[in-house]
Amino acid sequence: MADKYDVVVIGSGPAGYVAAIKAAQLGMNTACIEQWTDAKGDVQLGGTCLNVGCIPSKALLDSSQKFAETRDSLAVHGIAVNKPEIDVGAMLARKTKIVTQLTGGIAGLFKHNGVTSIAGKARVLLGTKVEVTDASGNVQVLEAKNIIIAAGSLPVNIPPAPIDNKHIIDSTGALALTEVPRRLGVIGAGVIGLELGSVWRRLGSEVVMLEALDEFLPMMDLQIAREAGKIFKKQGLDIRLGARVTKAEVKNNNVVVTWSSADGEHSETFDKLIVAVGRKPNSEGLFTSDSGVTLDERGFIYVNDHCETEAPHVYAVGDIVRGPMLAHKGSEEGIMVVERIAGEQAEMNYDCIPAIIYTHPEIAAVGRTEQELTADGVAYKTGVFPFAASGRALAANDSEGMVKLIAHAETDRILGCHIVGPSAADLVQQVVIAMEFGSSAEDLALTVFGHPTLSEALHEAALAVNGQAIHIANRKKR
Ligand code: FAD
Ligand code: NAD
Repeated sequence: MADKYDVVVIGSGPAGYVAAIKAAQLGMNTACIEQWTDAKGDVQLGGTCLNVGCIPSKALLDSSQKFAETRDSLAVHGIAVNKPEIDVGAMLARKTKIVTQLTGGIAGLFKHNGVTSIAGKARVLLGTKVEVTDASGNVQVLEAKNIIIAAGSLPVNIPPAPIDNKHIIDSTGALALTEVPRRLGVIGAGVIGLELGSVWRRLGSEVVMLEALDEFLPMMDLQIAREAGKIFKKQGLDIRLGARVTKAEVKNNNVVVTWSSADGEHSETFDKLIVAVGRKPNSEGLFTSDSGVTLDERGFIYVNDHCETEAPHVYAVGDIVRGPMLAHKGSEEGIMVVERIAGEQAEMNYDCIPAIIYTHPEIAAVGRTEQELTADGVAYKTGVFPFAASGRALAANDSEGMVKLIAHAETDRILGCHIVGPSAADLVQQVVIAMEFGSSAEDLALTVFGHPTLSEALHEAALAVNGQAIHIANRKKR
């Protein structure tokens, strides 16, 4: 007889494992199926985020930032150090240790909460049944009252630059380079390109980024993107816009990349080439055609605002459905779905999802950009405060960038916040909370902020929205 579960979750990334733990906490008999195994063949929980995404990339970003600061930024504090050296092997070992600790932590949480962990590849069948094939080819069918699909995403490949995992690599390969490339090419100046390009640039690589679009970070607020572009240029990230790669060939242990741009054909040689041109939903072979689950025109599993697919009692969350491909977005969707299965009226606020690029300085955003509001004909006002005027940022010798707050012109309600600067990720989170509570710019302006903190820059930006900043000149009223 097939096992019967209240909830079967497919995938143990941040969308899947959070949903599974929440379901078990609410008293549901829950199983989570994961196909990922380690070198020993043991199931590896945590998905892209823990294994080859958020966590290992942040480990390398933090290590490389410490190296770059030691090399470049201590003299100003009166600290003299000998030329630092990087032990790439030790840096990678630290990263692996953190990943192992966290993935093991998920296994522990499953055990603690009573989630059944099942190793194997899952496929959704008609009638809320799930077929699981393990590594030895054994097949079992689970019966579920509810199924949550959280099978995530995969890197996009482009024909001119096929991944060979030696010279031409994707983000996973870029997290595991065993030596610092002398010249590193990156296709795509998006989130992954900037984060992983920064890691290797800080450690000494010459980094050239080839971006197909004519504009840098067009999804970000344009003023912030422009400021970030200037900062990255100073750091030595050579970002070429409007570059359409036509060929990448491995020759004499190097990669020769050819691209065309407005000023003609170009070719350069790199030791390694990272392809970071986006990710696609991992929806192939995940369900049978009679299961009732459908895809949208871009290959994402079709869901409504409550993450319900077109098949009754089958839900999908995380990177495999529409919306930003962010770990926290998938986790919150997982919680919403499980709470709704439990009969609660849970909703997800898609207008308040922060997005961060973990360069130094960080770029962080929530809500609408100026260009989006202009396009929609919404009347708005802005307040901008540069970190160059922040005592805390100057004391830390980390004063590049700015905070920009956008509020509705009439109601003063906060519509968005865009930051490039130190600790931007943590600063923007304060605005996420304010927006969740429906705050106005004046609410933030009337809040007492500790001194001296980076958060004061947010306070001043809120004051500036209504021409009341204290520590910068306010725009003259016309
Ligand atoms: P995934 O994490 O991809 O997990 C899906 C899981 O499902 C996988 O473990 C997979 O093996 C399993 N699976 C798939 N098919 C099946 C099947 N048929 N049967 C059984 N199991 C299956 N996001 C952030 O918010 N912050 C960051 O800092 C950040 N950094 C990133 C850095 C990099 C280099 C990358 C690549 C991504 C980063 N992301 C970041 C994005 C983030 O990793 C994803 O948004 C997140 O992992 C998506 O979660 P998910 O649970 O939907 O899918
Ligand atoms: P992305 O969409 O951020 O950037 C891809 C870039 O590649 C874009 O600028 C695009 O214009 C460019 N591009 C596409 N095709 C190209 C081509 N043929 N030649 C040159 N340029 C090309 O995607 P990504 O950086 O691969 O990241 C994938 C996803 O992972 C993102 O959606 C992101 O949300 C997520 N992620 C998030 C974080 C974070 O939250 N800090 C970090 C890494 C990844």
